[in-house]
Amino acid sequence: MDEFLNFIKSGKLAPLKSWGTKWSLWPVHLVTACCGAELAHAFACGYDGERIGALNYGIARQTNLIIVEGAITRKMARVLKITWEQMPDPKFVIVMGACGLNGGVFWNGYNLVRPSEVVPVDFFIPGCPPTPEALLRGIRQLQKKLETGEAESSAYFYDLRLEKGKPPRRLPGVPKKISAAPSIVVNRPRKVDWAFGGELCEKLKVLRVESVAITGKNRIALKVSADKLREVAIELKKMGFDHVKSVNVVDVPGENKFIVEYHISSYSSKELMPVILNVFAEVPRNEAKIDSLSDLFPSADYMEREMQDFFGISFKGNPWKGKFLLAPDTPEFPLRKEFKLQEEIYVGD
Ligand code: SF4
Repeated sequence: MDEFLNFIKSGKLAPLKSWGTKWSLWPVHLVTACCGAELAHAFACGYDGERIGALNYGIARQTNLIIVEGAITRKMARVLKITWEQMPDPKFVIVMGACGLNGGVFWNGYNLVRPSEVVPVDFFIPGCPPTPEALLRGIRQLQKKLETGEAESSAYFYDLRLEKGKPPRRLPGVPKKISAAPSIVVNRPRKVDWAFGGELCEKLKVLRVESVAITGKNRIALKVSADKLREVAIELKKMGFDHVKSVNVVDVPGENKFIVEYHISSYSSKELMPVILNVFAEVPRNEAKIDSLSDLFPSADYMEREMQDFFGISFKGNPWKGKFLLAPDTPEFPLRKEFKLQEEIYVGD
């Protein structure tokens, strides 16, 4: 049997086998992020990637190429590894996009894994997102490698952009230290020509808020104490503010506090529709609790759960308990400043 396999691999039939593999690339469907839209573009009618011998297919056991389409999170890394293990040999990997290379726009993200830490990568295609042409070029490079055993590496593409004689640039590494006391400004007042904003601020001052400031055209920041947040939200609802656009938290360990902020706006009042209120309150880090606004503004529910997962803040009244978005074994509160970026290998052999 071994003799037979060796004959196929390196005997007279080897060139025929390489030729066949070259024109039979079957990328498995593994859409991990927005780069997937460019992959769809590359294989749709305009570019028709199929004409160069690659056809996307849905089942790992009958495919021989993974095109990693952008960011890989820790959760997704397991899927990538399982997919890879199911595929028959010979198999290949192309990684698209800045995210897959070194984090891209999510660089230094607590939950990001480089695909090259999980599976052996044949080619990286730079860009955010890479163009369909770049992806097809990457596939052509893989085909060239299959046929001749050699190909221009993706590092070669990289060098092309450098001026001659200059040393190659290095990608930044992950910072090991984060400032203990970063400077945080959430409501810097700005002077803007906005008469309606001035009138609105006068009305808002009547509510039990600590401060009101115009921070930009159509933007007003309201500082409230944590125990008054709910009362203020009820009054805002009566005024016509009817939904929460986002819930965010800023961790300020140097001052032992979290800043919890709700962006509140209106769909029902034409006048208030362009206005976004940044209603924020501070809570101590060692007793991170605040009233939930999810019963007043249902759109806040999901985002409060997120903040609970990521920062460990308890939103009193929100029925959700336990982890919502993160995998059960994720270390707690990954967006807190003291969270240690892990250097572990996330997926074992
Ligand atoms: S490289 Fe850009 S387009 Fe691709 S997954 Fe990352 S953010 Fe999305």
